[in-house]
Amino acid sequence: MNDLLPGELSSDMAPIETWQFVERATREVFSRFGYGEVRTPVLEDTGLFVRSVGEETDIVGKEMYTFEDKGGRSLSLRPEGTAPAVRAYIEHSVSNQEPLTRWYYVGPMFRYERMKTGRYRQFYQIGAEALGSKEAAQDVELMDMVVQLLERIGLKDISLNLNSLGDDACRPAYQQKLVGYLKSHREELCEDCQRRLETNPLRVLDCKNPKCQAVVQAAPNILQELCEPCKAHFDEVKRKLDALGIRYVVNPQIVRGLDYYTRTTFEFIAAHPALGTASTVGGGGRYDKLLKALGGPDVPAVGFALGMDRLTLLLKESGQKFSDPPDLFVAVADEGSADAAFTLASKLRKEGLRVEFDTRGGSLKSQMKRADKTKARFTLVLGQAERESGKAQLKPMAGGDPIAVSLTEVTQAVRSAPQAPAPQATAAQG
Ligand code: AMP
Repeated sequence: MNDLLPGELSSDMAPIETWQFVERATREVFSRFGYGEVRTPVLEDTGLFVRSVGEETDIVGKEMYTFEDKGGRSLSLRPEGTAPAVRAYIEHSVSNQEPLTRWYYVGPMFRYERMKTGRYRQFYQIGAEALGSKEAAQDVELMDMVVQLLERIGLKDISLNLNSLGDDACRPAYQQKLVGYLKSHREELCEDCQRRLETNPLRVLDCKNPKCQAVVQAAPNILQELCEPCKAHFDEVKRKLDALGIRYVVNPQIVRGLDYYTRTTFEFIAAHPALGTASTVGGGGRYDKLLKALGGPDVPAVGFALGMDRLTLLLKESGQKFSDPPDLFVAVADEGSADAAFTLASKLRKEGLRVEFDTRGGSLKSQMKRADKTKARFTLVLGQAERESGKAQLKPMAGGDPIAVSLTEVTQAVRSAPQAPAPQATAAQG
């Protein structure tokens, strides 16, 4: 689990400003698509995840933080966001209030993972769920939303991998065929996959173990076993992606870790060494059967989740910074001006400027050093002369001539001063 810190403080994680930038971009892009934010508790009844994610998945089987509360109930820290969103949708009878619901969430998830690059025990996801439409257009809308978000935050080299898992009509036969094939290669599979063969054979397809990957290369392909309606749905998804100019790779090994997917599944995979094996930045798919299975209405749905830790790590690796330096540093020239400078800083903040003031006092030299460090756009030194004349100098920190200002018009002067191409500030404003 990590601490997220502001500014340039050293940490393995991206600075908080990078996280805030991604969050702002998410809200902006998702609201363009008509998605509203939901915030659900970080704790849920353990049974919710057992019934939705699936008992045999790694997430539920090995990775949940589960405990008994004082009332003897079994609770779990949420390992993912879809089940809580669906629980809220059912609990508030949303389907009776609107036929089509589009939600997104941003927040922490918890999994007791083995320690690896880019894998944490508290991590953050951005996710969205669309409930009420069974159409391919809905799947593509979600993928388009991710693509637009990735573009908005400036992440490139992330490829969309697409698959279909079929449905109740065609998957069982495929699964049988797959199990037959895998059994004939049982000895070549890793220990986990030998177990998955009995419990969750589709998961063998996305095992990262090279031994298993070699076996999987020649495994039966689900896309060749789809029934007519599933095939038509998949073709329509591809046609619509093409129409939007969204590039993708068909990859029959994208099965996703959770039990509840049907038909479309997809993953966004980054080609970046910083992530090591954790190169999947997000994924999702259709889960038409989940709501009914959880005792809700028979409503089709599709969703995705993106890992914010990985998105911010990629932005950090790309060298982008999103700090928001102060507009102004107010420095004190002499002891007698300390109160006036402190009051001036307060007034300017009330007027909307971002103002730094060194509360420790100290020599003018040490204050200027601090001003440099904060990367403020301007400094204003207040001393007896300035107090008496009511005038001061705004000194641009990036160089250039000082600007003479009246002490009553500092805010206007800072605002109307030509924007020096302040390094790093631009991305944060967007
Ligand atoms: P999943 O729900 O497992 O499909 O995860 C969706 C995305 O969340 C992944 O592609 C990752 O980007 C991110 N994610 C999942 N587990 C972790 C973790 N333990 N640490 C960091 N990010 C994670």
